[in-house]
Amino acid sequence: MADYDYDLFTIGAGSGGVRASRVAASHGAKVAVAEEYRVGGTCVIRGCVPKKMLVYGSMFAEELEHAHNFGWTIEGKSFDWPTLRDFVNADVDRLEGLYGKTLENHEVEVFRERATITGPHSVKLASGRELTAKVILVATGARPAMPDFPGVEHCITSNEMFLLGEQPKRLMVVGGGYIALEFAGIFQALGSEVTVVNRTDRILRGYDEQIVERMLHIAMGRGIDFRMHCLLDKVEKAGDGCLRVHIGETNPVEVDQVLIAIGRTPNTEGLGLESAGVELGKHGAIKVNEYSRTNCESIYAVGDVTDRVQLTPVAIREGHAFADSVFGGNPRTVNYDAIPSAVFSQPPLAGVGLTESEARRTYGPVKVYSSDFRPMKNIFSPHPERGLYKMICDDTSGKILGIHMVGPESAEILQAAAVAVKAGLTKQAFDDTVAIHPSMAEELVLLR
Ligand code: FAD
Ligand code: NDP
Repeated sequence: MADYDYDLFTIGAGSGGVRASRVAASHGAKVAVAEEYRVGGTCVIRGCVPKKMLVYGSMFAEELEHAHNFGWTIEGKSFDWPTLRDFVNADVDRLEGLYGKTLENHEVEVFRERATITGPHSVKLASGRELTAKVILVATGARPAMPDFPGVEHCITSNEMFLLGEQPKRLMVVGGGYIALEFAGIFQALGSEVTVVNRTDRILRGYDEQIVERMLHIAMGRGIDFRMHCLLDKVEKAGDGCLRVHIGETNPVEVDQVLIAIGRTPNTEGLGLESAGVELGKHGAIKVNEYSRTNCESIYAVGDVTDRVQLTPVAIREGHAFADSVFGGNPRTVNYDAIPSAVFSQPPLAGVGLTESEARRTYGPVKVYSSDFRPMKNIFSPHPERGLYKMICDDTSGKILGIHMVGPESAEILQAAAVAVKAGLTKQAFDDTVAIHPSMAEELVLLR
């Protein structure tokens, strides 16, 4: 240790970096972390947390609409975007403070500036200071990928969505993934006219097709305009400040904002990784082994920068396993099987394990149980929206291979059901469980 300034130097104080730093420190390591933007990283500052709060904010639209049928009179209801935005951002400030406190309490030194790697054991801060560490952890996350077409500079990414000065009356969203569908849902519910432009006719690739199809049907019913098999050719800024978007042969579409959400690229550019000979893979992701170690013995990487699974709980687990392995005398890896996930669209959808088509490809014949139901909560909805739950089971053993759902609160319900899939339970275990009635979750133990 005497040879180095720190046992561990972490670059990036996001989900993975903060967890790794504080756990390494709790194992007795002398730790420093550099953060070039805000402590907490994407999830806390401009990802999961503020996004979910916007989802909550937008859901009042529907609740208030239905309130009348439940006997409530709400006069003069109106929505003010700056109020929601500022409320959400104030909570982000609070959380940033808490993350900083956690690091402080664990005696992790925080440098609020950019760091780059200058060798296997050395980093350089933006201020010019050079520091050494026995181990360097790269936890720099990812950034929005940007396409290349004339006028792309007029478009924004999810980063800017949380800071918008005013609510766009007309919002175009490019992409058919998590971020596209979540922001489309939020702004449609808040009253914006939303158009989603997707390059194929598949959205939310990786989720069960039938579940996605149901969500798409509901989203269209609510008024989101989907343009499939389309790419943007050009975006022009008109005199009145609005954006004129050229898509293929159709007439240009006028909107107030264009959100680009076509995936996230690992933050490895200009990081100095070449000075330590660290190998990169596809899209510039850092290549690591199952212990998150790179080909350079003293450099590790966790989270989005490795482009394994770009989810917060995964980055956190990778950071924790790294710290236990390297500083806690407890070498352990992360198990990537049956990671549950959810899209906070409206309605949300969630899944764990194999989709029906993946299961058929892997196992051949499988049994599929489903429930297609109208949630009691939707009884006053002007649209006859129905939830759909599916359970995919091995044909012979009955073991559950996957559970997929779309409908209100599906992320909340799936989290509990994911335990059963991870534990390798069979459908019989669900059949043996008494329902909680009336609930939506009871559909899971009544599947036929
Ligand atoms: P990050 O949290 O991105 O942290 C990396 C940090 O490194 C950043 O703070 C960055 O500023 C800093 N940094 C980068 N380079 C340097 C440098 N050279 N020097 C110093 N600091 C540097 N996941 C979910 O599980 N659920 C969700 O609901 C969800 N919603 C999301 C919504 C949006 C809009 C977005 C964009 C992402 C969402 N995600 C969600 C994904 C999730 O945010 C990421 O998977 C997670 O934050 C990855 O953690 P990380 O530690 O790898 O990187
Ligand atoms: P996704 O990977 O979810 O989706 C990207 C979308 O953009 C896909 O529809 C893809 O199409 C399309 N696309 C890719 N390249 C192009 C291109 N060049 N031109 C046009 N379309 C393109 O990315 P997001 O940006 O939505 O989110 C990034 C990641 O952040 C997610 O993968 C997820 O891991 C994480 N996240 C998680 C959330 C959650 O857990 N609820 C919420 C938000 C983000 P195709 O399918 O054809 O490739």
